[in-house]
Amino acid sequence: MSAPADVAIIGGGIVGCAAAAFLTEAGVRVEVYEREEVGAAASGRNSGSIQHPFDPVLAALHLETLNHYRRMEDVGLGDEPAGVLLLAPERDPLEPAVGEIARDCPELRPALLDPDELRDIEPGLAPGLWACRLETGYPVRPLAATRAFARRAFAGGARFHEAETAWPWVARGRARGVLSGGVRRPAGAVVLAAGPWTPEMIDPTRGWQPIVPVWGVVADVRMDDPPRHVLEEAGVEGLAAGADGSALFSLVSVDGQTSLGSTFLRDAPNPDLWEGRLRREGDRFVPGLRHAEVVGLRACPRPQSLDGRPLMGEARGAEGLWVAAGHGPWGISTGPATARVLADAIIGKHQIEAALSVARF
Ligand SMILES: Cc1cc2nc3c(=O)[nH]c(=O)nc-3n(C[C@H](O)[C@H](O)[C@H](O)COP(=O)(O)OP(=O)(O)OC[C@H]3O[C@@H](n4cnc5c(N)ncnc54)[C@H](O)[C@@H]3O)c2cc1C
Repeated sequence: MSAPADVAIIGGGIVGCAAAAFLTEAGVRVEVYEREEVGAAASGRNSGSIQHPFDPVLAALHLETLNHYRRMEDVGLGDEPAGVLLLAPERDPLEPAVGEIARDCPELRPALLDPDELRDIEPGLAPGLWACRLETGYPVRPLAATRAFARRAFAGGARFHEAETAWPWVARGRARGVLSGGVRRPAGAVVLAAGPWTPEMIDPTRGWQPIVPVWGVVADVRMDDPPRHVLEEAGVEGLAAGADGSALFSLVSVDGQTSLGSTFLRDAPNPDLWEGRLRREGDRFVPGLRHAEVVGLRACPRPQSLDGRPLMGEARGAEGLWVAAGHGPWGISTGPATARVLADAIIGKHQIEAALSVARF
């Protein structure tokens, strides 16, 4: 190995890759350790909708993330949002949602659509459905954002170690580097961006677990005429927080690739067992999905924090050990801005706000 890294990053998902990009661009020497390959977990297997997280505290992270993507052509962000349609079989569950979103996030311009209005803008939907339309939702290929940040980091000089599992090396209250392949690799600071596997790196006894895995299964389906909007069954906020083994319909299409989701499960599922259920649920919203050709199935865990917001900052009792994880269902929509905030904090340019600090747990 050449000179020790200034910063070692554990995790090659969207957060780790974006942190690597921002740090290298600030002149920091970075090494990224990824136990599989870049984007192997949720960052490459998500549904691909970059959208507002419906939480005013996270709105600034989302807007900043959009601005980063706008400057990175290879992400493939459209000029205008496709629009998100929150769907329900009746008017009742949507009415309070419209009111809440109008109050908390008016920039989303929530509009309640009756079944006729809905079919005017999305003729392929089942009759009788109601919707809340929101001015957000930019479909991209699931891996596109992570790969684009990895390229940016690489171009800036970051070194990637794929297929290398790493653990933080902490001694006498300070991060000293990482342990990888039985070798100590010194670094000035360490960033834990290992998604749902982050807490066990700080507390291997698992007594401290502010981020839990919430497993999602997604089917890639072939559709001749996919909907233009991002479609979601109303209720994702509640499910993400209290994963209870349910499935909620979602459909995101981009460049001929359509992702049909998804589940919210505590334990790692066998995706094959969910294919039929995803199709049946989907058929209630988009007739024909029951018989659509499935060309791929994937499962991976969302890194879900206990309060639905990411954790960032220096871990308690370990100087130089930084955390950036816990984005739940909104990681590609907010993760890059988290990474920028963290990078600035590491180089001493920025304080982390209390609502997002790792110290709140
Ligand atoms: C089904 C599904 C659909 C989703 N859809 C969307 C969506 O439409 N829009 C949106 O914004 N978000 C979506 N998300 C959420 C988003 O994908 C995640 O929040 C985000 O990808 C998390 O990124 P991350 O970098 O924190 O973690 P991960 O992507 O989990 O990356 C962590 C990485 O760390 C590596 N790692 C772990 N331990 C070690 C170790 N010891 N050594 C080295 N490497 C290690 C892992 O291999 C992994 O690659 C979805 C998630 C799921 C599961």
